[in-house]
Amino acid sequence: MLKACKIRLYPNKEQKQIIASQIGGSRYIFNRMLALKIYTYKKFGKNISKYDLIKRATKLRKRDKTSWLKDIDSQVLQQSISNMDSAYKNFFRRVKQGGAVGFPKFKSKHHSRQSFQYPQRVKLNENKNKIYLPKVGWVKCKGFRKDFIGKIKTVTISLEAYQYHASLLIDDGIENKSINHNNQIVGLDVGVKLVVADSNGNKIEALKLERELTKLRKRAKQLSRKKKGSNNRFKAKQKLAKINLKIANKRKDFLHKLSTKYSENQAIVVEDLKIKNMSKSAKGTTETPGKNVKAKSGLNRVITQQSWGMFFEMLEYKLKRNGGELIKVNPKFTSQTCPKCGYISKENRLSQSKFVCQKCNYSNNADIVGALNILDRGIHGNNACDKIAS
Ligand SMILES: [Zn+2]
Repeated sequence: MLKACKIRLYPNKEQKQIIASQIGGSRYIFNRMLALKIYTYKKFGKNISKYDLIKRATKLRKRDKTSWLKDIDSQVLQQSISNMDSAYKNFFRRVKQGGAVGFPKFKSKHHSRQSFQYPQRVKLNENKNKIYLPKVGWVKCKGFRKDFIGKIKTVTISLEAYQYHASLLIDDGIENKSINHNNQIVGLDVGVKLVVADSNGNKIEALKLERELTKLRKRAKQLSRKKKGSNNRFKAKQKLAKINLKIANKRKDFLHKLSTKYSENQAIVVEDLKIKNMSKSAKGTTETPGKNVKAKSGLNRVITQQSWGMFFEMLEYKLKRNGGELIKVNPKFTSQTCPKCGYISKENRLSQSKFVCQKCNYSNNADIVGALNILDRGIHGNNACDKIAS
């Protein structure tokens, strides 16, 4: 399904100049090729194909007089020809059908709205606050909708009333918007590692990054040995950045797949990470006690938390897109409560992975117990745990 999104651009002075020349070049080639098409038709009764026009444009770039066209992105020029060609064809098609339509107009530089198009190669950065436009570079932008994911198709850059905009067409790859729901509500417990347990008793294997992390440590060590300001240090920095990016991409890919899978449910209940982190900093570790947890390095923990934050965001927009919802609950005592009889005790956690209720002897994997309690809170409301806490 194609979606449209219009964002505001904030090019710098130099970028404005480049955009102006792309607009100018696009308009020039549109007009020149339209004129050529009309001329050939009138004089010889022949129609020049789009491909011949593109060839001509390539030749123009090599001529001295029009060599300035080299500064224009070649795909922008092709797209301009393509747009002109479609307008021309549409005119004749509609004339045949008896409709009244205008002949393609020459573009004027005095028109209040100036624009050009990229057929592809435009991309957004991770934070969606910068857009890469070929020839122009990375331009600051605002207003991209976070729930729009997919392949960026045609992008139109426009200038009107001193404001720059980009209109993006995005293909989300979804054929049909209505997805069959299984009507299920599922609780998810996320771990100190990248592991997920759900209330249906499934445990999702953690993403394996050992090889990449070993490489990362190696690269970091190499960097620390290089002399400050040296060329070798610069190279080592680049290598380190590369492996960091690889890890980030792998993790993101993993979270995307996971969130897509769970978004097919009617609702997903997760712990509210904000509350969780607040209670941790206030009282130390009230949840998931054990040496294993404390031994985890602070950095790893931050990264894992950020990953879960990202995961919940993905889940939320994917669920919404499918007509479902994400419910966040207070995570307090969810790892210490018996899902069968409700008895709360630290002693219920025999180890990091084993839960055995000291009152009714119920036992299960500790993470799945967490997921069951989270689900229960999602169904019965957040207040259930406040009562216990007070
Ligand atoms: Zn029990």
